[in-house]
Amino acid sequence: MNNFSLHLATQVLFGQGQIAQLPSVIPADARVLITYGGGSIKRNGVLDQVHQALKGYTLFEFGGIEPNPTYETLMQAVEVVHNNKIDFLLAVGGGSVLDGTKFIAAAADYAGDTWDIVTSGGKKITQALPIGSVLTLPATGSEMNMGAVISRRETGDKQAFGSPLVLPKFAILDPVTTYTLPPRQVANGVIDAFIHTMEQYLTYPVDAKVQDRFSEGLLLTLIEEGPKALKEPENYAVRANIMWCATMALNGLIGAGVPQDWTTHMLGHELTAMHGLDHAQTLAIILPAVMRARKAQKWQKLLQYADRIWGIDTGTEDQRIEAAIKATEQFFQQMGAPTRLSDYQLDGSTIPDLIKKLEEHGMTKLGEHRDITLADSQKIYESAI
Ligand code: NAP
Ligand code: FE
Repeated sequence: MNNFSLHLATQVLFGQGQIAQLPSVIPADARVLITYGGGSIKRNGVLDQVHQALKGYTLFEFGGIEPNPTYETLMQAVEVVHNNKIDFLLAVGGGSVLDGTKFIAAAADYAGDTWDIVTSGGKKITQALPIGSVLTLPATGSEMNMGAVISRRETGDKQAFGSPLVLPKFAILDPVTTYTLPPRQVANGVIDAFIHTMEQYLTYPVDAKVQDRFSEGLLLTLIEEGPKALKEPENYAVRANIMWCATMALNGLIGAGVPQDWTTHMLGHELTAMHGLDHAQTLAIILPAVMRARKAQKWQKLLQYADRIWGIDTGTEDQRIEAAIKATEQFFQQMGAPTRLSDYQLDGSTIPDLIKKLEEHGMTKLGEHRDITLADSQKIYESAI
């Protein structure tokens, strides 16, 4: 196990009715900007609940943060922050609203070109406004981590940054707010959480037993509850289990002390930026291709995954591994997500452009041991056609 430092500093308020607790976590004299997306929180009553809870507060609103939040939109929010002397940001929505709000928080008092926040990977951030969140889409873990992914329309970039300064102070997780998610977003959330777990679990060497078993608990729960959420959208227990899985999958706990392989996310980001596929749709295509491409290196962990997650214990080692990869693909398909580029009418002709973008973004050495080159990434894209 590697050395690690772990500080889980986000207060979680979990469960039905917790939105009413907002006054216990936002200072009474704060000037609060509520940030949100395209309007789902208006239609499902979540925004009303927030207003109800924050009666007497000085509130402002900024809506219209799009899925894969863009720099262009977020800079408009920064102006609202300046014009109204905002000193607290409350993100209400999914990962895009949360990520976008992290950028707004960092850009609010940034001296210089604010796009540098993203291209520096967050290293240039020296201060940020405090953020809280009411999560309505369990998927990204952004509510309890310091990462964000921002897109830029002008250049077709989609890049991640991270900083402890943008870690949310609190996360309100009320599973009831997720009842109105369309099936595609339920699937996206389950798959994103599953793949976050896999990118911290399916690595080598294999020696972190506690982290492995935490991860296996999350994977098994997502496999069990994901299809149920599609069939019974208002099953509280199912929604609660999925919501907690998604947060736990990327809040630092399972990744502490283990090597991490974010290849799937990095290759997926370029697909979203170039072709507009949803974040999780790209992951469902890329992960199986990464599993096959890295079979030799991840051999031991793949066998453990086959055995403990899918109960596969017959056949040669190679057959067991292939069966586990197939089971993974079938799970994504069962959730409604195709696992091939060609399922989205992509024939691979843009792979050279995707590789150019990866290079531009510095993604030339990926994998838990930085040994996945651009040539390897090209093969991964090609095998996903
Ligand atoms: P999202 O982009 O935030 O939201 C997707 C859609 O779901 C939106 O149209 C949204 O509508 C709708 N929605 C959200 N909550 C809803 C509800 N309760 N009922 C009905 N509709 C609802 O999706 P996401 O998967 O959470 O976030 C994806 C983004 O996060 C990507 O940009 C991805 O790259 C990034 N990401 C970040 C991290 C991280 O660690 N920070 C990790 C992985 C991925 P409205 O806009 O109308 O609300
Ligand atoms: Fe993700």
